[in-house]
Formats: sequence, structure tokens, C-alpha cells
Amino acid sequence: MTGITFSDKYRRIATEEAWAPQEMMDMYRDLYESGKLDDPGFSSLWGFYGSSNEPRPVTVRRKLADLDDERLHDMDAAGIDFAVLALTSPGVQVFDRDTAIRVASDSNDMVKEAVDRHPDRYAALCAVAPQAPEVAAQEIQRCQALGFRGIIINSHTHGEYLSDSKFWPIFEAAEALDMPVYLHPNTPPKAMIEPMLEVGLDGAIFGFGVETGLHMLRIITAGVFDHFPKLQFIIGHMGEALPYWMYRLDFMHNAQVTSKRYEALKPLKKKVSDYLKENVYITCSGMAWEPAVRFCQQQIGIDRTMYAMDYPYQYVLQEVIDLDNMAIPDAEKKMFYQDVAEKVFKLS
Ligand code: CA
Repeated sequence: MTGITFSDKYRRIATEEAWAPQEMMDMYRDLYESGKLDDPGFSSLWGFYGSSNEPRPVTVRRKLADLDDERLHDMDAAGIDFAVLALTSPGVQVFDRDTAIRVASDSNDMVKEAVDRHPDRYAALCAVAPQAPEVAAQEIQRCQALGFRGIIINSHTHGEYLSDSKFWPIFEAAEALDMPVYLHPNTPPKAMIEPMLEVGLDGAIFGFGVETGLHMLRIITAGVFDHFPKLQFIIGHMGEALPYWMYRLDFMHNAQVTSKRYEALKPLKKKVSDYLKENVYITCSGMAWEPAVRFCQQQIGIDRTMYAMDYPYQYVLQEVIDLDNMAIPDAEKKMFYQDVAEKVFKLS
């Protein structure tokens, strides 16, 4: 233990906490070493995390696979009361259709067992294979009945985006069952990654946020929330920069739609920023930075901004101390750490 005493004025719920079955990481390593997958982002990410013997990837691999003693010890040491577990990126989305369906189902069964062992410490998000939207919808239904509290999708699937209506059976199930969708980053697809990869900016430092922000924006501009008005998304990393862009997104979306510049850009029922404020929750995963947290609380909503640690990729105790010390009232800190997460994931 660290000996740090954390405030007990609220329950700290961490909402973007990664895990991975050892079998899936072994499959990643085999896939990478086979050279059969033409996905430079996957090779960049899991070529490193899956095979490197540097201290950081070795530690990350061990902590990803642990759902018991080490993880609970780390949570205790950081004052984290409760974790929402999600299958790490790229999840099953890098596999072929049938493999993805099988690994999604197996990993869901495995994390369900961990939740059952530690029901006062964990909830889990359901992994699905977007490669098979109808099967994914059935898996969402199965997982909802098992007590899962949402759905994890690690951004694009082989370069395809959920803005394509062929994926919308997933949204139909999510909306009908009131299961929020956590849209987590993946490395950018082949068509996007090269200028980032050549300078080492394709991963969590920048590429993740750009690609996931684009994905969220594609979902909004495709009219997904006009079709599924009750559907709720969650995006991490302080909203993948979209809150900061809202003014320009609204102005330019209106300008381009009015001038009919793009066939693909259709009129929407609301402003782009309205969907961010009404259909999207924001977490601070990897961005424990008070000015950004407060900006999102002010502009997206204090009832839509919540805490995440991003374990084990960013396990930094000082971040919890810094967020505990934000210059906001305790009631607002409780919203941030506890109340919003309890509402979104039905944890109370
Ligand atoms: Ca993460």
C-alpha cells in the first residue's frame, strides 16, 4: 500500500478500465507474427504491447490479464472503489468474423465470472463483434440479462465505421435495452495512419483521439441519434477533443448542409453540439487535467462528465490526488466520481 489516505466523501468509480484474456493477447501476438493482417495500426500497437520485453508492456500485459489480487490491490492503493471493466483495444474487432464472435462471447463469460467473484468492486461492459451486427445484437441481449452495464466498441472495425447503417442493429439493441455504448479508441485504420505512424504519433498520444473523435462525429452526422434518440454513447479522453470543437462544428455543419456541398452531409434535426450534450457522456480517461474536466462540465454538462483512470495504461496515483483537489464544490466532485457513473451504468 502507498499509505495515501483518500477522501471518503464519494465513491470513486473508474469507468474505462481495460482487461484482456491471456488467450486473446496470445492470439494478437500470433496474428502480428503471422504478418497476415494488413493493419499497420495493429502492428504498431500490439507489435509493441504484445511482444516487447520493455518494463511498460510487460507490466501492462500482466495487469490486463489480472482480474483479482493485483488489480484490486492497485485499486485500493489509488482510492478506486469500483471499476467498470472493458475488453482492451482493439478487442475482437481485429479478427475475422467467426473468431470475433467466439472471442467476444468467451471474454464476456470470463469477465462475468470476475464480476461474480467481486460484485462490490466490478461491473463489466459487453464486447461485441461488429463484423456480425445481428449476432452482436443477440450478444447484447444475452449480456444485458447477465447484468452487463453497457457495450464496449473499440472504434473502427477493419477500417469500417458505425455510421454505416449495416451496423445499426447494434444500436437498435443498445437503445431498446438501455445499454450505453462506450466508443473506445483504436489505432487509425490503414487509410488514415501513415502520416502519424512515420513520426510516432499514431497511438494514445494523438492518433487514438483523432480517429475516435472522427468516429463519434461520423455517427452524429450520419443521423444515428435522429434514428435512435434515446441511444447514449460514452467517449473517453475528455471527449476526444470534440467539446473544444463544438462551436466550429455547428457553424460549418450548417454552412455545408445549407450549401449542399457534400452528398453525404445531410440535414439533422439538431445541432451537432446538441447531440454531444444529449446523447454523449464524457470521461477523463488519460486526461486528469482540471481545466479540461471543468470545460467539459461547463459545456457538455456536469451531469455528463465522469471519472476514468484508464488502468493499466495510465496508473498514476498522483492523478487521483490532483482530481480530488479540483477547485469545485464537493457535490460536483461527487457527481464527477460517483453520481454520473451510477446513473449511466445503473450501479447504485
Ligand atoms: Ca483506455
